[in-house]
Order: sequence, then C-alpha cells, then structure tokens
Amino acid sequence: MKIESKFQKKKPVLSFEIFPPKRDKAIQNIDETLAILSELNPDFISVTFGAGGSHTNNQTVELAKRIKHQYGIDPLVHLTCLNHSKFEICELLEELRAADIDSILALRGDANPAVEAKKDFRYASDLVKFIRQYGDFSISGACYPECHTESKNKVEDIAHLKEKVDSGVQHLISQLFFDNNAFYSFQEHIQIAGMHVPVEAGIMPVINKSQIERMVTLCGASLPEKFSRVMHKYEDNKEALFDAGMAYAINQIVDLLAHDVDGIHIYTMNNPIVAKRICDGIKNLI
Ligand code: FAD
Repeated sequence: MKIESKFQKKKPVLSFEIFPPKRDKAIQNIDETLAILSELNPDFISVTFGAGGSHTNNQTVELAKRIKHQYGIDPLVHLTCLNHSKFEICELLEELRAADIDSILALRGDANPAVEAKKDFRYASDLVKFIRQYGDFSISGACYPECHTESKNKVEDIAHLKEKVDSGVQHLISQLFFDNNAFYSFQEHIQIAGMHVPVEAGIMPVINKSQIERMVTLCGASLPEKFSRVMHKYEDNKEALFDAGMAYAINQIVDLLAHDVDGIHIYTMNNPIVAKRICDGIKNLI
C-alpha cells in the first residue's frame, strides 16, 4: 500500500525509522528489533540510506524487502541522490520495482568527502522529478520545521520546499524538533504557501547525553528551556536520563496528537525498547 494512502484513514499515522546494520553485520541481526517493532503495528517503517556510494545502500533495499515480505509491513525506502548518477538511481528503482516496493523518501543527502561528487542531481527536487518520470512510485520528502541548516532564512526554505512538493512529493517527514511550537508555526507557513500534503512530525527520543549534543549541532534544533533543564538535571544518571527522555518525547507526542497532527515518525535509532515504551505511553491515543 502506498504511503500517501495511509493518510486517508481517520487516524494519525504512526511510523518508525531504522537504519541498516553496518557492513560486517548480517541483516538478520536486525530481526530482534523488527520483531518488536512489528508488534507495535506501525503504518510503515522507513529505512535510511548511505549518503554516497556506501556499502549500506544494498543493505537498505535488503532490509526493506525483509520488512515487507517477512514482517508484512510497508517499507519506505530512503534514497539520496547527490552522490549518485542517473544510471545508479535507475538500477535502484528497478531493484525496488522487482521487490514490489513502491514508496521512496527522495532526499538530496549531504556531500561525502570520501566519494567523488556526481553531477546528475543537485537537489532532492531533481530526484523527485526523475522518479516521477520513471514510474509509478509514491514519493515522500524531508522538511525542516526550524529551517534547513544551509538555507539563508525560512522564506527561502519554504520556497524550495514548495518547489519540491510541486515536483511530485505526496507526503513530508519532518526533521526532529523538541519545540512543538516551531512545528505548529511551520505547519502554518506551509499551508500559507499552498502545500497541502500530509506532514509527519519527526520525534527523536533523547536517551543519552552525547546524542543531545550531536543532534543539535547537526540539525540545528532549538532546545526549549524545559527540555534543557530536564536533560541537564539527569545528564549524569543514565537510567534517569532515559526516563526523562521518554517522558519528554511522550509529552511532545500527546500535544501533537491533541493538535491533530497527520502522523508521528519515531527515529528509533534501532532501539526497539524506546519505540515500545513510547507506544505504550500513547496506546489509547493513536
Ligand atoms: P533538499 O530538499 O534538496 O534541500 C537541501 C537544501 O537545498 C535546503 O537548504 C533547501 O532549501 C536548498 N534548496 C533546495 N532546492 C533549491 C534550489 N532550487 N536552489 C537553491 N537551494 C535549494 N540523509 C542521508 O544521507 N540518508 C538518509 O537516509 C536520510 N534520511 C533523512 C530523513 C529525514 C526525515 C530527514 C529530515 C533527513 C534525512 N537525511 C538523510 C538528511 C538529509 O539528506 C539532509 O538533511 C540533506 O542536507 C538535505 O536533504 P533534502 O532531501 O532535505 O534536500
């Protein structure tokens, strides 16, 4: 079932993101995680993709096949384009078609210094147009409630997002954020800009201290005072920080659901305990 049709139901969509195992680890290593995630009945599971020429790319498609054919859950395959040629993208699309996988999260990705840049695609919207012409895939895209770090300002960011949606994106998944107000304001701006596709809120449960610092540096998410206070209080107590991180994520989701969000996308970091704990906390809400 194509991802966009999941939003036609009268309830919010729930999805998880996982990443493929590293090169030296077999794909089967992720079965324990998938077994628990599948019991939580997500609408789909998305699988990340290496930014360029990476060995994990094959694992992405392999893992997506496993999710679909072994666990009966629809996969959403991430596909980055900056470091891929049109030919390589065609090969991947054919592989997906052969595996009966029809939903793609079309991404630009980031430059990979270890890989010579290819010139076929510059932005995610180029990939969206290419896939749209290639065949009947359902196409999702990434969005940034607090602006992509490379954008000069929110106006420019929204204008480029509109180009991407107009190229054929049918559903958006947001970058992680800790301040729901930033998400609500973003929702308003995309409505004003005339984008009427469902937007899933990306939630990253924080469970350790280094994760907070890394995420904030990489994606520029702002930290509300309440979040910083709680994390600072428990940062040196592993178990307490885990509890606090879970409570914060659950509170964020409860508030998003009360605001009738289209869907919740949980960045599980391949930790099924995290996903289970969150789902237990919202089981009567979704
Ligand atoms: P784009 O939509 O192309 O935007 C990138 C920047 O270019 C933005 O600043 C945008 O405003 C600007 N821009 C767009 N069009 C134009 C234009 N015509 N002219 C000038 N500027 C323009 N990375 C991975 O490597 N693998 C993954 O699996 C992965 N999964 C992700 C999942 C989600 C939900 C999110 C939010 C991000 C993910 N990323 C992943 C990270 C992503 O690849 C990076 O954030 C990347 O920097 C931007 O990708 P994009 O598809 O949003 O790019």
